[in-house]
Amino acid sequence: MSVTAAPDAVRMTHHGADFDALRRQDPQIAEVLLGELERQSDSLQLIAAENFTSPAVLAALGSPLANKYAEGYPGARHHGGCELVDTAERIAVERATALFGAEHANVQPHSGSSAVLAAYAALLKPGDSVLAMGLPYGGHLTHGSPANFSGRWFDFVGYGVDAESGLIDYDQVRTLARTHRPKAIVCGSISYPRHPDYAAFRVIADEVGAYLIADAAHPMGLIAGGAAPSPVPYADVVCATTHKVLRGPRGGMILCGSELAERIDRAVFPFTQGGAQMHTIAAKAVAFGEASTPAFTAYAHQVVANARVLADGLEAEGFAVLTGGTDTHLISADPAPLGVDGRKARGRLAAAGMVLDTCALPYGDGRGIRLGTAAVTTQGMRETEMERITALFTAAMREEGEETRKVRTEVRELAGRFPPYQG
Ligand SMILES: *Cc1c(COP(=O)(O)O)cnc(C)c1O
Repeated sequence: MSVTAAPDAVRMTHHGADFDALRRQDPQIAEVLLGELERQSDSLQLIAAENFTSPAVLAALGSPLANKYAEGYPGARHHGGCELVDTAERIAVERATALFGAEHANVQPHSGSSAVLAAYAALLKPGDSVLAMGLPYGGHLTHGSPANFSGRWFDFVGYGVDAESGLIDYDQVRTLARTHRPKAIVCGSISYPRHPDYAAFRVIADEVGAYLIADAAHPMGLIAGGAAPSPVPYADVVCATTHKVLRGPRGGMILCGSELAERIDRAVFPFTQGGAQMHTIAAKAVAFGEASTPAFTAYAHQVVANARVLADGLEAEGFAVLTGGTDTHLISADPAPLGVDGRKARGRLAAAGMVLDTCALPYGDGRGIRLGTAAVTTQGMRETEMERITALFTAAMREEGEETRKVRTEVRELAGRFPPYQG
């Protein structure tokens, strides 16, 4: 494999000397790391759930905090020697509660799914009924998929979207809530590009005496930057990831009011998890610090501005953009009017160096494409580049063969002007 990643990028992501040690000891894995850095740098990362963490976050992740065992919570651990990592967790919790205006934060969930599992464990009993967005409309696996613990242990009912507008139909949500009397209502999605109406969900939850769980894994970074409304004033529990728009390490987080704090904490540890990952928690603290800056506020707004330009561009090129646009970082679109389905589109775009996902469509059984602007915006791309991406996108979609190679070269050139890691 030819390695062309800039030395600066290697130093910033793999801490120089440490990387040399890895390369000497385990060249096979070192090649994977270098190759992946090169892949991330010379193609366009349009997966809506991905981002580029800062070198500071990567430094915390790759630190000796990874060696520490720390079951329990700061000041009450089952292991000795936790004084310093306790400080890291206290800082992470303080920053999270301040950033999101929450009374309580649990920063230990290993992932978004672990956060949701713990929220259910805190509030529900097996067999309880839960109302969440149906999977074909953008619900996550943890919102009742039969392949997931949620669908196995709880009785999920799915709400959909209006067939015409593609928007959540709150009358349908209310009707389903009245009929099924769920113990909890979940709002949040993996592909719905609009903000949930948290106040409307709260009213419906109160009408039927249900808990309201906001699974804000995707928009949490937009919320931090003031570019999306916050569920914190409305939801009993807010679940999130820290690695999507929020740009932190791979992991989860739960926010709630003081009255549920103890139940949530016990549901995370010891009910669903063991030792906390202190290197990740330190990295979460770093990310929350970054997300509290004016630069991050500007970033979050630019992410949405970029997504709007991209959504408008794709619609003009003939894609059926779900809900007719976006309010977030995320765009879901059906490429069927261009004569291809989502899987084929993803393949053609990948061949041209534009990496994204397929997604379920709220109608029929075809698949659409789902993309987002969090990563390219971190690289510094703006409206002009989104117009360029729209053009490259369309070219890659329409042609195969020689044209794809031409587009691939242009994608490499565009990505090369915005290195995610530079000295
Ligand atoms: C990403 C996501 C999750 C799961 O996060 P993981 O870290 O992959 O487990 C859960 N719910 C929603 C709505 C998500 O978007």
